Amino acid sequence: MPDNQRQLRIAVIGAGASGIMALIKLGEAGYDEVVAFEKAGDLGGTWRDNRYPGLTCDVPSLAYRYSFAPNPDWSRVCAPGPEIHAYVRSVAERYGVESQIRYDSEVTSARFHDGRWSLETVQGPQGDFDVVLTATGVLHHPVYPDIPGLADFAGPAFHTARWNHDVSLAGKRVGIIGTGSTATQITGAIVGEVAHLSLFQRTPQWIMPGPNPEYTPEQHAEFHAHPELLEEEYQRLNDQQGVNFADAVIGENPAVYEKMDFLCRQNLENNVRDPELRRRLTPDYKVGCKRLIVSDNFYDAIQQPNAGLVTDAITGIEPGGVRTADGRLHELDVLVLATGFNTHQFFRPMTVTGKGGFTLESAWAARNQGYMSVTTPGFPNWFMIGGPNSPIGNFSWLVTAENQLGFAMKLMDRLRAGNAREIAPKPEATAAYNDALNAKMKDTVWASGCRSWYIDGEGRVASWPWTYATFLKNMAEPVLEDFEIA
Ligand code: NAP
Repeated sequence: MPDNQRQLRIAVIGAGASGIMALIKLGEAGYDEVVAFEKAGDLGGTWRDNRYPGLTCDVPSLAYRYSFAPNPDWSRVCAPGPEIHAYVRSVAERYGVESQIRYDSEVTSARFHDGRWSLETVQGPQGDFDVVLTATGVLHHPVYPDIPGLADFAGPAFHTARWNHDVSLAGKRVGIIGTGSTATQITGAIVGEVAHLSLFQRTPQWIMPGPNPEYTPEQHAEFHAHPELLEEEYQRLNDQQGVNFADAVIGENPAVYEKMDFLCRQNLENNVRDPELRRRLTPDYKVGCKRLIVSDNFYDAIQQPNAGLVTDAITGIEPGGVRTADGRLHELDVLVLATGFNTHQFFRPMTVTGKGGFTLESAWAARNQGYMSVTTPGFPNWFMIGGPNSPIGNFSWLVTAENQLGFAMKLMDRLRAGNAREIAPKPEATAAYNDALNAKMKDTVWASGCRSWYIDGEGRVASWPWTYATFLKNMAEPVLEDFEIA
């Protein structure tokens, strides 16, 4: 580090896929006083928490990887969750960043005073930091359904992100509440093992077919011999996702949207034989309004003789099973809660007190709101990966995270160079940005009328409504006039 530069002490919050990436990138940029606080006892975030049967990432693994760490050894086009967890760990080890992680260290409070952030974790005060970077992910606060009698269920009952691996499902009557990506994957994985599976559906889902073949030994050999193939595939998949899919869901590519719509309808039509079951599996909202599901085995699984789709509303849970509005008790031995996550919590319940005693609770009382998802007014030198209105369901998360970190680092570099001691976005620039965002959101399929985890408590969509090209351009260079730089 040149002598005229400030040494910045940086706290990263979270050691999931984004936090690990941040430790590596900050280290490479010469930031050598960086510590990550992780609430759990292991790294990996969502890949640590989710261990349910059938877990895969439906983003092809050649694209769901760090740009700087290609992997020629994925077992399948879409790798199973434990393989992705092992990949994140292996990258952390290869870059030697594990020693920077403080485990079992949930941050409970952050307070800005005298130009620095004072952090406290469940382990006690951690001292002062010049910069805080949150890398706390989106899908990590499990939602437990508010169904009367849930606590009375006599058998094992657990959320999918807290899977109880001590419980064998073999020969059991298993109930799954929910029909999101998680429930869909579990259904396909366990139907062959259980005595009976009851899938409790509140809302049907559109499902895109997605074959997931294994890579052959020849393909692995090819990837090893020609690493440029991995790069080409990464670019191709990013373009496919970024240009085609991401444009279609924001209303900018009607031809691709129509194709998605067609593929989902055809998938249902071709693969569900019984017209009555097909009717019950047909959504009444637009394809892509909820997070699109990709599956090649769900329709087959739900038509197995030992599987049943339950569409009568759940009225209560009893020791012996789940009661529905038609009066029937669905007798169960095990109950799986595939009921999703509170995605609007971000890093809360941490208390964050910004400049002048201004709290995040008050700043975000009406809604979570940031500038370019990475910064928020009144909270200087506080940067977020995956902050408010981050692209969710548009691009591969790792691509989003790397670009948002790049944006944050451009601002951190100014702090390090001594050009500034405090950087936060201007309230008026933030308001203008959010006005534009809300106006553009109306064109997206997410706002077309459905219940989904993209929508916050006030009914506003929490994703990012512009194209991939716009995202890359916005992240490439912060507009300094939009910041208060002191
Ligand atoms: P989710 O998509 O939010 O689905 C939750 C399900 O639970 C919905 O079907 C919901 O019904 C139902 N539900 C919630 N509360 C209920 C209640 N009280 N009574 C009855 N049903 C209730 O959650 P998820 O499936 O865990 O997926 C979350 C996200 O994780 C996905 O959208 C995706 O982004 C990510 N994920 C990704 C992959 C992957 O392969 N990349 C795999 C798994 C998960 P309603 O639809 O009626 O609200």
